[in-house]
Amino acid sequence: MLDEFVDEERIAYFSMEIALRNEIPIYSGGLGVLAGDTVRSAADLELPLVTVSLVSRAGYCHQEINTKGQQIEHPDPWQPEDWATPLDAKIAVPIEGKMVWIGAWLYVLKGHMNGQQPVILLDTDLDENSAEDRRLTHTLYGGDSTYRLKQEIILGIGGVRMLQALGFQIREYHLNEGHAALLALELLRRYAYPKEELRPGESPYNLPRVRDLCNFTTHTPVEAGHDKFSYDLVQQVLGDFIDLATLKLLAGKENLNMTRLALNLSEYVNGVAKRHAELSRKMFPGYRVKSVTNGVHPFTWTHPSFAKLYDTYLPGWCHEPELLARAECCIADEAIWKAHQEAKQQLIKTVKEDTQIALDPALPILGFARRMTTYKRPDLLFTDIERLQAIARQQPFQIVLAGKAHPKDEGGKRLIDLLHAHQRELADSIPIAFLPNYGMDLALTMVAGVDVWLNTPLPPLEASGTSGMKAALNGVPSLSVLDGWWIEGCIEGITGWAIGDGKEGEEESALLYQKLEQVVLPLYFKDSNGWIAVMKGTISKNASFFNSHRMMRRYAAEAYLR
Ligand SMILES: *Cc1c(COP(=O)(O)O)cnc(C)c1O
Repeated sequence: MLDEFVDEERIAYFSMEIALRNEIPIYSGGLGVLAGDTVRSAADLELPLVTVSLVSRAGYCHQEINTKGQQIEHPDPWQPEDWATPLDAKIAVPIEGKMVWIGAWLYVLKGHMNGQQPVILLDTDLDENSAEDRRLTHTLYGGDSTYRLKQEIILGIGGVRMLQALGFQIREYHLNEGHAALLALELLRRYAYPKEELRPGESPYNLPRVRDLCNFTTHTPVEAGHDKFSYDLVQQVLGDFIDLATLKLLAGKENLNMTRLALNLSEYVNGVAKRHAELSRKMFPGYRVKSVTNGVHPFTWTHPSFAKLYDTYLPGWCHEPELLARAECCIADEAIWKAHQEAKQQLIKTVKEDTQIALDPALPILGFARRMTTYKRPDLLFTDIERLQAIARQQPFQIVLAGKAHPKDEGGKRLIDLLHAHQRELADSIPIAFLPNYGMDLALTMVAGVDVWLNTPLPPLEASGTSGMKAALNGVPSLSVLDGWWIEGCIEGITGWAIGDGKEGEEESALLYQKLEQVVLPLYFKDSNGWIAVMKGTISKNASFFNSHRMMRRYAAEAYLR
């Protein structure tokens, strides 16, 4: 079954989470969607990758919104046997002084052209393991830091061992975020010099060899966001897998910092947008950090109504999304508008079914959906309720929201409560719908169906952001704070609009209201040709560039083939 995948050398792509499809709930947000888009583009471009992740049988979390407007989270179990094939190989990794056995599932990602990609999902739910160890691959980002460290051992060390057991020949490793960094420790051991060849006191580890094999993409713009483990915990869980002195040299004196470990053991390192790479260089002086700005998978994130248009006017766009640059000149305004109305109708129908709220297709819809967490500031739009109402009295609009908070993110959960409080407060003036259980399918419905995609993170915390890129594929402009990808994507009034100029200490809510009231809504209501010109600008200038085909061609040329 693996035959067709093991006969050529491959790039091993490691990710803690991955959005393979809507029915497989083993992702929490943008990082997992990026991993999925990476593999989907690799399939279309026929790049030889093999992806490793955890099976996460209990999923991430299923979100219910109760009648009070609070998030209630449930496990989100899935049956790997419905989508994947069990593989025979079993390997073990040392955890707390005993061996934990790991099995694997093969999910074959089928591209929509011809390519296929093998995805290996690691699973400890085996008879050989204790009840506790069987749960280690159940919940994505569940449990405490001990659980997390054990999961990272399974992913990194277990993943490398599993690939070998399955007969894969690996030419390079790609670490999607620091979660996978322990794979480099396994490689250090694999390529260590034999004891007999060492002079007394000499390290057995061949650092250059391992570094040459590893490529690392960092996603976190602040120190506090990096995965860290105390060395006490590491010793308790991992024992003397690698001697402590070496580990401290590679991963930091105080704690095992997964980002530092990955930086020290990767020849190629990149951030996910230009600004993010700059910040990473400041945070970790002395490392060479390139930038490859993220992208989204063209076919996956294009609504069928737009895919039909592009197929007609820009055939080949799925393989060469650069062709979308021609949308501006080659697609008629009426055709763009009609395709958008079709996507908008679908969103309105979803909103009606899920929330009983009836939206008006003639009025603009602002959309905001992503992980609900403090730095994303979903509440910025509601800073001054009276001001918001005053704007809506003159130029009415509607709002659609969605997003899950991590079960332990109290701040994120409070934001969901707060958004629902605003919804009740504004019930008579601004229709606001909160759609439960945000996931891939809902994301496409929203990014294509709204008229404006709102993004208000607290700079510089949004390393890239990708949902605005999905909107661009569907001709939906962004109204966004200048952070992450938008610093590169925003051409004012052409691809969308900036909130403020990205400087610190701005009154961003006031600037948001100003731009909405004086620029965005007047254009929508008074100048439909001008509005469609912006829609076309987002497609021509942004969708043609911020896609994962470009991203993967860059990784292939600059990281994998370096
Ligand atoms: C694209 C996507 C995200 C990422 O959104 P950002 O705005 O980049 O944070 C999160 N969740 C889902 C389901 C997505 O499809």
